[in-house]
Amino acid sequence: MLLAIAGAVLLPTFAGWHLEQRFTHDAQEQLLAQSRQAVLGMTAAALVEPLWSIDPGAVAAVARSAMADPAVVAVRVTERRPLTRPLQLARPNHVPDLGPVLHATVAREGVPLGELELWFDPGQIDRAIAERRRATLLLAALQVMMSGLVLMAVLHRRLLLPIERLKRQASALASRDTVEPMVWNRRDELNELGCHLNDVHARVGDLFGQLERKQADLEKIALHDGLTGLPNRTLFQALLAAAVTSARRDRRGLALLFIDLDRFKSVNDTIGHAAGDTLLETLSSRMRDTLRAADVVCRYSGDEFVVLLHDASATDEVAATADRLLKALEAPVLIQFRPVAVSASIGISLFPGDGIEPEALIRHADTAMYAAKGLGRARCVFFRPEFNSRLQATAQLEQELKRALAEGQFELHYQPQVACDSGQLLGCEALIRWHHPDRGMVSPLQFIGAAEQCGLINELGAWTVRSACAQIAAWKRDRVPFGTVAVNVSALEFRHHRLVDTLTRAMADFDVLPHELEIEITESVLMTDTDTTQRIVEHLHGLGLRLAVDDFGTGYSSLAYLKRLRPSKVKIDRSFVRDLPGDEDDRVLVQAVVQLAAAMGIRVVAEGVETEAQRGFLHTVGCDMLQGYLISRPQPAAQFALFAMQVGTAPDFAITAVMED
Ligand code: C2E
Ligand code: MG
Ligand code: MG
Repeated sequence: MLLAIAGAVLLPTFAGWHLEQRFTHDAQEQLLAQSRQAVLGMTAAALVEPLWSIDPGAVAAVARSAMADPAVVAVRVTERRPLTRPLQLARPNHVPDLGPVLHATVAREGVPLGELELWFDPGQIDRAIAERRRATLLLAALQVMMSGLVLMAVLHRRLLLPIERLKRQASALASRDTVEPMVWNRRDELNELGCHLNDVHARVGDLFGQLERKQADLEKIALHDGLTGLPNRTLFQALLAAAVTSARRDRRGLALLFIDLDRFKSVNDTIGHAAGDTLLETLSSRMRDTLRAADVVCRYSGDEFVVLLHDASATDEVAATADRLLKALEAPVLIQFRPVAVSASIGISLFPGDGIEPEALIRHADTAMYAAKGLGRARCVFFRPEFNSRLQATAQLEQELKRALAEGQFELHYQPQVACDSGQLLGCEALIRWHHPDRGMVSPLQFIGAAEQCGLINELGAWTVRSACAQIAAWKRDRVPFGTVAVNVSALEFRHHRLVDTLTRAMADFDVLPHELEIEITESVLMTDTDTTQRIVEHLHGLGLRLAVDDFGTGYSSLAYLKRLRPSKVKIDRSFVRDLPGDEDDRVLVQAVVQLAAAMGIRVVAEGVETEAQRGFLHTVGCDMLQGYLISRPQPAAQFALFAMQVGTAPDFAITAVMED
């Protein structure tokens, strides 16, 4: 740019100078011609008198005075008188008769007296022009310098400095530095551009702010669980990897807690997903509150959480934290004005003892969590290497259950239920048995949980219902007085939409009357008594079926559900019967349950009655029915038939019960 500016200044100057030279040359020539004519005229005039008076000395003096003019290089005066020689003076270097010559005739009163010739310096004009050119050049150079300086100063102040500031402003914009807006006071284009850049900077700043906030939101969405706001699995894996690296470097311990809510699915199924979400949110914040700020809690999937405890070397401290978590999770949550409670199973793995890789820690904590479930849930279990083989055993159990169903390895045994006062047979409970090809008879306690976990429970339940109905049909045909057959339905099965279908079809297929069949459900089913539970119970009542509440007293016994769902029986759990009549607490409790049930028109069955003393106490407090080894162990259908034939039923009682319902 500077070159262009220099060109713009120099070129016109040079062109002007060139033109000026040309005009000067012409003007100089004219001037010179005039001055030469003047010298010639004056010299001729000065010669008139000396030539008239024929004074050679004076003539010579005039000639010399003409030579005094530096432009004159030679003079020749030729007199008209005969025999006179021309007077000629010339400068030493001058070659005579060269260069421009001017000629004049010297005359007086019309009489010619002689001739005057003057030779002039031929380089005079060139020298004069050269001199002038030098002066002009000097002036032009001065002018160029001055205007250059002025121009540079103006350029610097008005152009270069603002451009420099604009550049800084633009780089600040590009580097997204937060800088104060620059001050632009003048009203020229660059200042306007600067003001504009200030605006752009402000707007870009705003945009970047928005973008950064959006980016942060997106990162939060990508790395956090939308419902609970806890880190999700992706973020947790990154945090765990970092924690493992630094724990390895600093030789510190870590603990990983894999937490699974027990029976959360049933909460979701029964009280609805919105309530399930509320429960998850509440439990998440409880976990967060229970832990130190440095510890990480993440929602791993649906109802699974993982907790990472830093600096956790002492096993008892980890166990204490896990216990605190269990307590925090178990406390009921008030949802839609109802207390909803779930427990949790926690598996714990420790770094570096149980694994030095993040994946191994997670896997082992998960395995330990399954062990906690297997031990009856609501507890925490530390990982042990043998759990891996147990996990394989569970997987194998699932396979075997499938085969058992396909190959008919299951059988129902029947345990009598008798009237407490008369001892007459009122019914029986159908209890499933598995004849395992290798392991012999397997208790339902060992496989019902596994069947629930792998989803086989519905198929197994359908098999139980149909087998019980088939047995009822067979006993009716054989005139065995069996009373009512109670079938156990697990919580998952109860909420399955096909339960009512299965029951309807089985009853129709085997001509089973409603009073011949009874459904046993555990308290936990009714505990989450919601619209779904209510609807299913109404369906069952619609079929004419009666409900018995199994294991009464072991869960959150609530009078409200007894009133609403109208079971025909409650079965006092064996754990309250076992220590009767010796245990004071159990005595009070059983008596209270019996009185309460009587007041509500619900019959009471005492489970696990093994001794005469127990029977005596139960009879005294007014218990309706007994079930237990004292009367009979659960037995195959044929043996039960023999028992029933011997004891006989109390038909009046059964019919009365049906009419009451
Ligand atoms: P439950 O429904 O409470 O059944 C009573 C359990 O107590 C039975 O164990 C029975 O054999 C046992 N029992 C009865 N009287 C006595 C006694 O005097 N002393 C002692 N020590 N035990 C007694 P079982 O047959 O091993 O069944 C265990 C549980 O498995 C059942 O508890 C029930 O919850 C479940 N179950 C059994 N059959 C089925 C089934 O077909 N479907 C489902 N979903 N669950 C079943
Ligand atoms: Mg039962
Ligand atoms: Mg029971």
